[in-house]
Amino acid sequence: MLAPTLVSPANALTIDVEDYFQVSAFAPYIRRDEWDTRECRVERNVGRILALLAEREVKATFFTLGWIAERYPQLVREIVAQGHELASHGYGHERASDLMPKAFRDDIVRAKHILEDLGGVEVRGYRAPSFSIGTANLWAFDTLAETGHRYSSSIYPIRHDHYGMPDSPRFAYRLANGLLEVPVTTVRMLNRNLPSSGGGYFRLLPYAVSRWLIGKVNRDDGESAVFYFHPWEIDVEQPRVAGIDAKSRFRHYVNIGRMERRLGQLLADFRWGRMDRIFLDGAGPSPAPAPHTARSLRPEAVR
Ligand SMILES: [Zn+2]
Repeated sequence: MLAPTLVSPANALTIDVEDYFQVSAFAPYIRRDEWDTRECRVERNVGRILALLAEREVKATFFTLGWIAERYPQLVREIVAQGHELASHGYGHERASDLMPKAFRDDIVRAKHILEDLGGVEVRGYRAPSFSIGTANLWAFDTLAETGHRYSSSIYPIRHDHYGMPDSPRFAYRLANGLLEVPVTTVRMLNRNLPSSGGGYFRLLPYAVSRWLIGKVNRDDGESAVFYFHPWEIDVEQPRVAGIDAKSRFRHYVNIGRMERRLGQLLADFRWGRMDRIFLDGAGPSPAPAPHTARSLRPEAVR
């Protein structure tokens, strides 16, 4: 077992608070106006996650959908009451890359207001659904800064069929508009970036591989990793969505029964904390390793 040591940086534990019927891969099969007819399981699943975190004395960041917050205000209050960071996953889980600038602004402002009203705290962080900020919509970073967000965790620097910006910096960097972008974690191997930060890959790969990848980022890069998962990933009893394509079915359900135990192991093997404490309030990220390609959004080294 990898023992946490004083020299290894704390990693950011993040949960994207949405329900199983809201995942982007199911969008072709479940219409948005059907959401209210589906059995919601997010409340009990987040409850289990909160209990696990309390037991391990770990604080995390909950990127929460406005749509969920409106329906489960007590959930939002509980996240805050237990000392976790309340952050935004937008209102309706529409990919930022599918929205025109005005619609994107409306979505993130609506979510921020709902979350702040219910939680009674400032919402500083945002994660785009399906990591949907990339070369085609870098204007979204300006909108985030203009609407009072302090950081984003919306870029996945890999190649993937649904998202990704493989040439983007791998670690946190500050944009000229002041916004901090904290990409989810990759490991650089064989001249490419490999996903190393959770989601379906964490369920698919043997746990020892995931542990090694995160340890490598802490050890070799000297950086904090950003890990993410969803409440539905620990829910073996969630209703199965019928008629979906084989790839989406595999990605959604693979090893769901092993997830909770693996999470417990992960919490024991590394040091964890909230995004804002690690990246905004803490020592801060190291300088950006590579220039961004955005026209007006040049990153500046932090510190
Ligand atoms: Zn999401």
